[in-house]
Amino acid sequence: MRKVYLDNNATTRMREEVLDAMMPFYKDVYGNASSIHQFGRRSRAAVDKARQDVARLIGASSPEEIIFTSGGTESDNFAVKGVAHALRSKGDHIITTSVEHSAVLNTCKALAKDGYKVTYLPVDGYGIVNIDDLKKAVTAKTILISIMYANNETGTVEPVAEIGALAKEKGICFHTDAVQAIGKIAFDVKSLPADLLSISAHKIYGPKGAGAIYVRKGTKIDAIMHGGHHEMNKRAGTENVGGIVGLGKAAELAAKEISGEPRKLMELRDYLYKGITSKIPHTRLNGHPEKRLPNTMNVGFKYLEGESIMLNLDMEGVAVSTGSACTSGTLEPSHVLTAMAIDAADAQGSIRFSLGRDNTKEDMDYVLSVLPPIIQRLREMSPLYEKGK
Ligand SMILES: *Cc1c(COP(=O)(O)O)cnc(C)c1O
Repeated sequence: MRKVYLDNNATTRMREEVLDAMMPFYKDVYGNASSIHQFGRRSRAAVDKARQDVARLIGASSPEEIIFTSGGTESDNFAVKGVAHALRSKGDHIITTSVEHSAVLNTCKALAKDGYKVTYLPVDGYGIVNIDDLKKAVTAKTILISIMYANNETGTVEPVAEIGALAKEKGICFHTDAVQAIGKIAFDVKSLPADLLSISAHKIYGPKGAGAIYVRKGTKIDAIMHGGHHEMNKRAGTENVGGIVGLGKAAELAAKEISGEPRKLMELRDYLYKGITSKIPHTRLNGHPEKRLPNTMNVGFKYLEGESIMLNLDMEGVAVSTGSACTSGTLEPSHVLTAMAIDAADAQGSIRFSLGRDNTKEDMDYVLSVLPPIIQRLREMSPLYEKGK
């Protein structure tokens, strides 16, 4: 049976070139990057090169602005808690949105327990925050704005340039979770006024368990991981050299391919969407039609449960997801679609298709051959469908 992987926003297949670059660091080059003998120096050189590659991908002015972490979740935790702790004497108010990844949402919830005040900005029907809402939410006590670059469930892109400009004008630290934007949208931190930006390796064809955070020079942030003097004293712990090298290689390749790859994915995605809407009635696109990641498409199939569509597609070899990987299996409607005021019944039947560099037109044709009969069959069994027809 054909296997079609359309869950690249959950994770991606590691590239061959990335694995090849990593392998020596699990075999012969095993020195601790902090050791000053030649074993250590070889590891250090590899970490330094990776730092340059990540810095180059986002246009950081110095590699020292890149701190390696264990992934996007840790980067988000570090940004939010690190700034909250560092600026506690200045204020206690954090602004975020209701559609953030759980790594930001649950970190904010944890801080709220410690006495911080958190504002969760609403979004419109496309999942976009309103700048005026943000302006109104700012108080003299606001120390951090954390708003994602692009949403993992719908692909909707937030107005981060305007948000950053406002934050800068008000002198408030701005963090953006760019885990989904990296490699899909060309941007750089020279023109984007973000002080902190989260990156994850496994979303860009790198290894799981590796990530980074961009920390603009001069940003006040406390460490959350205490120990040795690693990572410019910002993140203690022996460097995950293999993972860091993998992230560096993935970043190097992403930078090279940013001008062509996203466009290719967008064309494939739009081909799939056209096919779906021409073959299947009662669908809706969740997320902004244009201000959206090129690889992402969240479609609601009215009268159905996303879980059953997903499981039926799985039996045909097609991997998709309902909402985010972190909430699937809970059967709760997605917090993102709920925040977009999508009716719970509509949100239930939503499926995220997220394409990646391995996908082909044949993959799309295969999905278009198996999906319509699945939807038809499930709808015939759905009591809601009879009423809606
Ligand atoms: C995947 C993801 C994360 C978490 O990254 P991990 O490396 O898996 O911890 C954070 N934010 C967004 C938007 C993501 O898609």
